[in-house]
Amino acid sequence: MAKSSLSQYRAKRDFASTGEPRGGARRKRRRGKLRFVVQEHDASSLHYDFRLEMDGVLKSWAVPKGPSTDPRQRRLAVRTEDHPLDYAQFEGVIPEDQYGAGSVIVWDAGTYRLRGDDAKKKTPEQELRAGHLSIWLDGEKLRGGYALQRIAKGGKGEQERWLLIKVDDDEADARRRPVSTQPESVLSGRTVEEVEEQEREQKSDGGERRSRRRRK
Ligand code: MN
Repeated sequence: MAKSSLSQYRAKRDFASTGEPRGGARRKRRRGKLRFVVQEHDASSLHYDFRLEMDGVLKSWAVPKGPSTDPRQRRLAVRTEDHPLDYAQFEGVIPEDQYGAGSVIVWDAGTYRLRGDDAKKKTPEQELRAGHLSIWLDGEKLRGGYALQRIAKGGKGEQERWLLIKVDDDEADARRRPVSTQPESVLSGRTVEEVEEQEREQKSDGGERRSRRRRK
């Protein structure tokens, strides 16, 4: 791959302004388990960014309603640009003048693998290209089988559209609503609102300190 798959990610952001990671060189495939992360992102419209480690980066989808544990719910997932692996730990506020301005928390995190026989025959990269991923999640909130199915190819500025659907297995639960009942970060216990408030307080504290210093 001549061009980094992170070039789109970097072109959209000014790393002097945003606290998001720039990401290093694309890493070689790590041994062991592949990571997944779901970030709640309170941008111009609230959504959940679903990311799977693949090929040294995080393949990403924006899920407006967030993942469901109910197999009857088909959640739209719009493919977005690859993110660096470091992004899996990012929480904070993306500044007003930046792409994706708003508050971000790590809503869920863990590892994933391909399900069943697929794991022996295919790689996640192959399934991604074919437009159908059949995965098993081991997260704190999300567990069990999930399917990601491409329903519309991108191109000409259009993003790929996929559906994220819970597989009807022992981990399925139509009554659970983790998106609304478990809003806290699995990293810090904070909600997106709390992250935003803390950032605002820190900024105003810093402002006061600076003006006090000036008065001396
Ligand atoms: Mn987002």
